[in-house]
Amino acid sequence: MQNILIVEDEKRVADLLKKGLEENGYKTLVAYDGAMGLRLFQTDSFQLVISDIILPKMDGFELCKEIRRINDKVPVLMLTALGFTDDKLDGFDAGADDYMTKPFDFRELIARVKVLLKRDIGKTAAPPEQTGYADLSINLNLQEVRRQGRVIKLSPKEYNLLVYMVENAERVISRMEISEKVWNTHFDTGTNFIDVYINYLRKKIDRDFDTKLIHTKPGVGFILIEKP
Ligand code: CA
Repeated sequence: MQNILIVEDEKRVADLLKKGLEENGYKTLVAYDGAMGLRLFQTDSFQLVISDIILPKMDGFELCKEIRRINDKVPVLMLTALGFTDDKLDGFDAGADDYMTKPFDFRELIARVKVLLKRDIGKTAAPPEQTGYADLSINLNLQEVRRQGRVIKLSPKEYNLLVYMVENAERVISRMEISEKVWNTHFDTGTNFIDVYINYLRKKIDRDFDTKLIHTKPGVGFILIEKP
């Protein structure tokens, strides 16, 4: 079922939206201020966000920008009591996809919601399902790794590291790049954290096979390349 986040501080309007959307077969969650909206967005998966502009704690523009930082695909429909063109432009500037002025006609809102959700499906319909390198194949939907058809079990961290290396195969990747792109953080250069995970991966990916895929470039980093 499609999940819609409603961010609206006027309880009456929030209730109306929730009830109306649920009657149309959507699942909804309501936040009564911008900060709460952002928290909910981070903890659940939504196919659409409907947000008021004037909100306590964080306004709709700011919320929309934050959402865009996390997810640039989810459609955002902005609501406002103010019908000013400037608001509309600011909304689009913040990354909103559509805009409605309150009070709105509910049927029109549902029509816009349907259009936005369809557009979202169009954008996300073709995610890569399969990637790989040499005799290594990764089913991205199942998060299943195989080498020569044999399933290899990896921890989530090992899996993320391997997928990143496969996506950047035949290119030297530095420890810094791995810590930023795979762990989304900066480790101080004294740590051998990355090397530990590379070794875990080597044991699982390379140890039982003649052709080694994971190689160290001393003083630089690592490379995924097919070499005996
Ligand atoms: Ca408001």
